[in-house]
Amino acid sequence: MRTRLYHHPIFAEHLTGAGHPERPERMGAVAAALEAEAFQHLDRAEAPEGSLEAIYRCHPEDYVRKVATTIPDEGLKRVDNDTVVSPKSFTAALHGVGAATAAVDGVISGDCDNAFVAARPPGHHAERKTAMGFCLFNNAAIAARHAQSAHGLGRVAIIDWDVHHGNGTQDIFWSDPSVMYCSTHQMPLYPGTGARDETGNGNIVNAPLSAGDGSDAFRDAFRSRIMPALNDFHPDLVIISAGFDAHHRDPLANLMLTEADFDWATAELMEIADRTCEGRLVSLLEGGYDLHALAVSTTAHVKRLMTG
Ligand code: ZN
Repeated sequence: MRTRLYHHPIFAEHLTGAGHPERPERMGAVAAALEAEAFQHLDRAEAPEGSLEAIYRCHPEDYVRKVATTIPDEGLKRVDNDTVVSPKSFTAALHGVGAATAAVDGVISGDCDNAFVAARPPGHHAERKTAMGFCLFNNAAIAARHAQSAHGLGRVAIIDWDVHHGNGTQDIFWSDPSVMYCSTHQMPLYPGTGARDETGNGNIVNAPLSAGDGSDAFRDAFRSRIMPALNDFHPDLVIISAGFDAHHRDPLANLMLTEADFDWATAELMEIADRTCEGRLVSLLEGGYDLHALAVSTTAHVKRLMTG
């Protein structure tokens, strides 16, 4: 497989303050993991700056302006209780969008078979008009819309295995049957959404898990709910919101997954992509706050993307 990694030094310059879990060191952990021998054939690309046009497909202009004007000239500024911005945050977020849309371009043009975007800030909590949960722009949603608007794809599936529910992605596609959003997440947990009966236009599949659940419950949610829905939906592109905070070491949640579960889920989604859309798959990093868990999970995930 030709797997492309999108990254950029600016992602480590989005500062969030001492003690914040969504911290620059996360990028160092991912980069170090992907320096290993196994990744010598990984195709590495620098993330371009994303376009405002791409962002406006998911967030209104006045929201984007509000985010831009919130950025401080120095120091830190709080957007909400847990979302912090600093001087380079807007530029970092723009490159995160650029990486996500470039990954879609790369996969659809056939320049690469699949792609992994190692960016921060993450995106799946960002609603149309609300930055929250460490997120400014919803990279996965923007990638899906880009695939439809710039490449004419019909149906896009977003599968989100971050331990938190992607309320932002659900918000953006709530009444849009052309995008399927499937999520496994711990519930109850931040942000509080993601119940089974939140189904949108029939295009939202929430499979909440309970604190303490591990591999069996996670895989059963995939087998019994998510994979059948994806099979019926028959996507033209598969996007993964790949958060690794459902790992048992993660400090923010209590699911008991291991890197082997992320490897397994990656293989399952690659199989769906092979069957429905010539393997087109774009994976975007979301959460993951224990640096060791983040490193070993990224290793398992990207290795699977490369080997199929
Ligand atoms: Zn998360």
